[in-house]
Amino acid sequence: MDLNYLCAHQLHKLLKDKQVKSVEILDSIARRIHDVDQKLNCYITKTLDLAQEQAEQCDKKIARGEDIGYLAGIPVGIKDNMCTKGINTTCSSRMLRNFQPVYDATVISRLKSEDYVLTGKLNLDEFAMGSSSENCFFGSAVKNPWDTDRVAGGSSGGSAATVAAGDAICSLGSDTGGSVRLPASFCGVVGMKPTYGRVSRYGLIAFASSLDQIGPITRDVRDAAIMLNALCGYDKKDSTSIAEPVPEYTQYLTQGLKGLKVGVIDELSLEGIESDEKSGLDRSVALLKEMGAEVETVSLPSLKYALSVYYILSASEASANLARFDGVRYGWRDKKAESLREMYRKSRSQGFGEEVKRRIMMGTYCLSAGHYGAYYEKARKVRTLIIQDFNDAFLKFDVLVSPTSPSTAFKVGERTKDPWRMYMTDKCASPANLAGLPAISIPVGLSGEGLPIGFQIMADILREDLVLKAAYNLEQALQFKHRPKL
Ligand code: GLN
Repeated sequence: MDLNYLCAHQLHKLLKDKQVKSVEILDSIARRIHDVDQKLNCYITKTLDLAQEQAEQCDKKIARGEDIGYLAGIPVGIKDNMCTKGINTTCSSRMLRNFQPVYDATVISRLKSEDYVLTGKLNLDEFAMGSSSENCFFGSAVKNPWDTDRVAGGSSGGSAATVAAGDAICSLGSDTGGSVRLPASFCGVVGMKPTYGRVSRYGLIAFASSLDQIGPITRDVRDAAIMLNALCGYDKKDSTSIAEPVPEYTQYLTQGLKGLKVGVIDELSLEGIESDEKSGLDRSVALLKEMGAEVETVSLPSLKYALSVYYILSASEASANLARFDGVRYGWRDKKAESLREMYRKSRSQGFGEEVKRRIMMGTYCLSAGHYGAYYEKARKVRTLIIQDFNDAFLKFDVLVSPTSPSTAFKVGERTKDPWRMYMTDKCASPANLAGLPAISIPVGLSGEGLPIGFQIMADILREDLVLKAAYNLEQALQFKHRPKL
């Protein structure tokens, strides 16, 4: 049995029934990491010694007959922009290449209390800025396990590729404008962004604070629900954390779809969408109808501005958030500078990569006195219009759907010289961040070239239940069982 390809809920059952030990699961994951990670470049830091200790502890607990949580003994990888106490947290940047946080992010504390097993810290676009995981300080781009000439998607490319390749059971990514869902769709796995505020951002190194949200990447929808239950909940250390009770998400999965009102968003499903994604959408919609859902198309006119609004707001927030990396308290410092000003300038010029500098400059421009009204302020207003369009649509529909991305995974290097083309990759995913909505991507088939196609389901704020229910039913109907031949 390939333990490293099972889902967390399947492994949980095997662990509870004492048919397998956590150390055996870890062993099969560690072997797989050894075999494939050099080709994929998913891991920046492997923590297999720590993982061994955690797995042994979990096995002891089981042997003593203690009750264990769903994630106990399960090998999980973490995107390297979430703080792990005493373990390098680099954001794939020279700026933080040796940074060891003195505290754990809230999500890490939560997973620890579930007795998870940490396999390591996963590669990403520097400071989570990118759609392809090519902006990496450590080694080359993350490669797609389905075709290593192609990108894994970004910015949580390591988190998605590692789950697809079988060298972690599940992982955490962060999603500011699609970075959990997009790589999940490129790599043929499930990626979920919860409602903004559902999962604490404490200890997530900030990119754009009004958009950032942590989410799970898993092999199936049940595992996504299980991970959500481990992650969600109020945290006083995050001022935007939502203080609402968290339901048991798995209870909704098996409810049927009869009467569910589904809206297919015109603005995200027609223009600029390639034929494979369109056929993935058509097939999924046909299945939803067969299962009793009522499907109609819907127009959200303001979404045509969403990508521009996203890039103005995210760059503006990034320019403010990244101001803290000045070479003084932590991070890269130019040691030869002769004045304070020169030290700031040189440390930041050397410490950040090209794309991060591009965002800082765009954002600073949008926030600057002469341009604030034309860019930042206007983008804020259009964001409100986008939220209103979603609110109107949710008066009529339970869930809204679209492809996750305009295309399947593209070739490494194909879009790096053309930032606008790269940014277009986020067309379908970024609106959910602007409105703070929960959204999932699930694999719905393979293209003619054998690459996974993703399908996106969104719902109103705090309606993760609807997203998960629709995704689970579709997953059952599709039975997507393909695996990369790596
Ligand atoms: N691709 C988008 C960007 O580069 C989204 C990134 C993210 O969600 N972290 O901004």
